[in-house]
Amino acid sequence: MSFEKIRDPRRIRHWKGDMEVDYIYTAGVAGEKFLATIRDKGKLLAVRCGKCKITYLPPRIYCERCQSSLDDWFEVPKTGTIQTFTTVHMDNNGEPLPKPITLAFIRIDNTDGGLVHEIGGVKPEALRIGMRVEAVFQSKSKRTGALTDIKHFKPV
Ligand SMILES: [Zn+2]
Repeated sequence: MSFEKIRDPRRIRHWKGDMEVDYIYTAGVAGEKFLATIRDKGKLLAVRCGKCKITYLPPRIYCERCQSSLDDWFEVPKTGTIQTFTTVHMDNNGEPLPKPITLAFIRIDNTDGGLVHEIGGVKPEALRIGMRVEAVFQSKSKRTGALTDIKHFKPV
């Protein structure tokens, strides 16, 4: 079998058009357990690498530093600290949002990780880096096993 190497892109035959692609994104083994625990119990789980002394949230099935399998799961508080934040005025298509939303990276207590999530219950002007916040969960009947089962984080 021989392969032709085309150096001039104008020689490539092509058709312009749109192709519909459906896909399902999976959260992975650790992500599924993390999200199912939020949905079923309204609790946050982390996993620890004893060798590296790193606590992963979101959890993983292996340590990204030493490649060990991780199975030391434990519950962590629903509280954390704002590390950084921004207020968003437009959606992904550049259209104005009906109401601006404030997103933050929240370092979850007792972990080396955190979550990017919406901040609620406070005016953006009042937010500060270092502010203490806690997760507000959706009512159990509204939870779907997604990160949006956390409605937002609000100041403690
Ligand atoms: Zn490790």
